[in-house]
Amino acid sequence: MKFETRAIHVGQEPDAETGAVIPPIYATSTFAQTRPGETLGYDYTRSGNPNFTRLAQTLASLEGGRFATVFGSGMAAITAVLSTFASGDLILAEENVYGCTFRIFAQVFEKFGLKVRYVDFADPANYRLIGEVRPALVWLESPTNPMLKILDIQAICEEARKVDAPVLVDNTFASPCFQRPVELGATLSLSSTTKYVNGHSDCLGGVVVTDDESWNDKMVFAQKAVGLNPSPFDVWLIARGVKTLALRMRQHHESALEIANRLEKCDSVEWVRFPFLASHPQIEVAKRQMSGGSGIVTLQLVADLETTKNFVSKLELFSLAESLGGVESLVDHPASMTHASIPRPEREKVGIADGLVRLSIGIEHVEDLLADLGQALEKAGLDSLG
Ligand code: PLP
Repeated sequence: MKFETRAIHVGQEPDAETGAVIPPIYATSTFAQTRPGETLGYDYTRSGNPNFTRLAQTLASLEGGRFATVFGSGMAAITAVLSTFASGDLILAEENVYGCTFRIFAQVFEKFGLKVRYVDFADPANYRLIGEVRPALVWLESPTNPMLKILDIQAICEEARKVDAPVLVDNTFASPCFQRPVELGATLSLSSTTKYVNGHSDCLGGVVVTDDESWNDKMVFAQKAVGLNPSPFDVWLIARGVKTLALRMRQHHESALEIANRLEKCDSVEWVRFPFLASHPQIEVAKRQMSGGSGIVTLQLVADLETTKNFVSKLELFSLAESLGGVESLVDHPASMTHASIPRPEREKVGIADGLVRLSIGIEHVEDLLADLGQALEKAGLDSLG
């Protein structure tokens, strides 16, 4: 079955008991046992629930992996992975990871002795570090949030395999529709399903997909032992949202590419990043490992902090809000919102300056979105779109 069909049918079969085409929500914390210790497959929702099983089947299939474990948020999925390490273990991480990934490394797990070293993985010269430091895990994110750097997943995985280092890819921005890290050689593909996978900004969720049974066992253990489970209702919403993932992603890509092209011609815009834009420094890698550029466009305005804040506040269709990947367009000012948890020097080192703006292009009509961007640029005293 093709991706679009699997999104609708794998893990989404009608309910065997009643024939309900849409599976019910198992809103229960606990399950009756037939005899002490004997169950019908589930005992307590923290360690499993039929809605989790179904969504895990859907997402494993879409990501091209054998196993998936669902969590209460992307950060819960990240916590699950980090909870498997011991004091002294080293993670070699891409330097432009999501702000809260950086924060959980620095402010939570480093307290317990986990070591994290950052590196620019867009530069192949740095791959040699994997062999040199032999990390317990290589942590990638591609495209990165918010700079949209593209990392060569296959090449980095080949390097890591030489020293048996597992590789995790945060696949949130691409979604399994456009990129499947496990097929590219990664050990773990992690996503915040809050974003494109759900697509409707109405709940939080996370997932880790792997082909490796021992890693899957660790994820199942973390779900129940650390209490990282989602709610059955949220999982049901994600299972509903994912059915339209392919359709949505096609529209996100098409509109984002057009908007990126138009913004690139605006004199008030210093540069624009979109993985499939001709000017993107890693466009060749993007085209090799992704089948679409997704819906995020990052731009650097020729503007100071105040003007940038005015611009993002004057947008009318784009809500000024954290998050991304929903059908509705959102705008984010990373330096004061999503990436404010990264200290200014580290933030600026990876390019998150005061004039940086991240757009999550929704599936509204692209002409309406362009008109909105044009009027907000004008109201902020900047050049409008040509
Ligand atoms: N990873 C990336 C790349 C993200 O952008 C986010 C959230 O924005 C997360 C992980 C965390 O996901 P959640 O907000 O669902 O906890």
